[in-house]
Amino acid sequence: MMRPPLTLKIVEIFASLQGEGLRQGEPTIFVRLAGCNFRCSFCDTKKAWRGGQEKKIEEIIAEILNEHKKLPTLWVCLTGGEPLLQPLRPLARAIKEAGFYLQIETNGSLKPSVLADWWTVSPKPPDFYLHPEFKKKAKEIKLVVTRELNLEIIRRFRRLVPEKTPIILQPQSARRWSEKKALFLIKAGCQHQIKNLRLMIQLHRQLQIP
Ligand code: SF4
Repeated sequence: MMRPPLTLKIVEIFASLQGEGLRQGEPTIFVRLAGCNFRCSFCDTKKAWRGGQEKKIEEIIAEILNEHKKLPTLWVCLTGGEPLLQPLRPLARAIKEAGFYLQIETNGSLKPSVLADWWTVSPKPPDFYLHPEFKKKAKEIKLVVTRELNLEIIRRFRRLVPEKTPIILQPQSARRWSEKKALFLIKAGCQHQIKNLRLMIQLHRQLQIP
């Protein structure tokens, strides 16, 4: 019996600028996958928790190529929700075969089951669990400045991942207390000699783009 073609649940596909992390400002085509294994109160992509539309790999690639016509860029970013909840391998392969670089944004709690050029890993409270395979794979650790985040947790990540991997503190946009706390934490981090720590704000929120 023939198996039905693999589909993935997709919320949206769009071209924009990468607003977060070390790739900030680079034109990127985003594929937002549905579903998440967390329910963070501060989540700014709650629309990805449910819903989405089942799409075949060829349909997703066709949409990516369509977005590429509007904004020719070499980068595709799989985001969510949590993209690793779905079987990503065929899509990742097809994206690479189409000639793109692949970034994946993840909360880091699940095994990285695919190959990517760039892993952005953002562990979440309350446990800030990081799958051991990300210790070396992560290109950057991005910590949203929440009520739970403190210097001890930052220090824990500094010990966990190589020093060349930056730890990025990202305040919640338009939350003054989070911005102030981020400033406090980066100063305290310097005083405690926590290396390669930086603060970055969300560019897309500033520019009011998707
Ligand atoms: S892990 Fe990310 S996508 Fe999932 S609920 Fe938390 S902030 Fe939202």
